[in-house]
Amino acid sequence: MNKISTIAIDIGHNVQFDGGALGIKSENVLNFEVGTKLIEKCRAVGINVINCTPKSAVSLYDSLNKRVEAANNRNADFFISIHHNACAGGHGTEILCIPGGKAEEVANIILPEIVKLGFSNRGVKPRNDLFVLNKTNMSAILIECAFCDSKRDMQNYDTEKVAEAIFQGLYKAFNISKTTEVYHIVAPGDTLWALTRKYGTTINNIVTLNNIKNINLICPGQKLRMK
Ligand SMILES: [Zn+2]
Repeated sequence: MNKISTIAIDIGHNVQFDGGALGIKSENVLNFEVGTKLIEKCRAVGINVINCTPKSAVSLYDSLNKRVEAANNRNADFFISIHHNACAGGHGTEILCIPGGKAEEVANIILPEIVKLGFSNRGVKPRNDLFVLNKTNMSAILIECAFCDSKRDMQNYDTEKVAEAIFQGLYKAFNISKTTEVYHIVAPGDTLWALTRKYGTTINNIVTLNNIKNINLICPGQKLRMK
């Protein structure tokens, strides 16, 4: 499959008027943890990530629409929405998408990676009625990682392992290869902004790669990883 350069990641709910399910654990918290970790993993291999999660919303429609617009406006190559299911009695993992295209293909590669962690496989399910799948211009999937109200799923639930499984699926689906590491020795007068232009990267990437606490404090002689 084609390489991916920009991916839209949507952390489901987590905003006013769009609350997640409440189970043994809160869907909001699980979505946030899995989504944030997935974003970090993608950025670490040089993928440009659009975090589509809105900071505020005035209605459910506004929340969903902002997610879609964030992905569409910046021409993401692929869209992933992170959710956790709830329905007394259910358990396992499923991925929802509009069938018949790249989304279904990628979903079929990611799903077994999550299932490997010990969840039951509920399949890739065709859904034509979901706003974030319908309105996004690019291929889109919605992952219901597990049931947040299932004892079986929530026992020993590890958001790091789930994020890593989704990342491994993406890795396989898009033949992602780690970018070769590139370093820069800071010279007097260098600024992070100038370095982003020189190396074709972003301040966020440099900050993450080097664990920089204060972006105004870089010192001549310091070795910084650019990619
Ligand atoms: Zn949800």
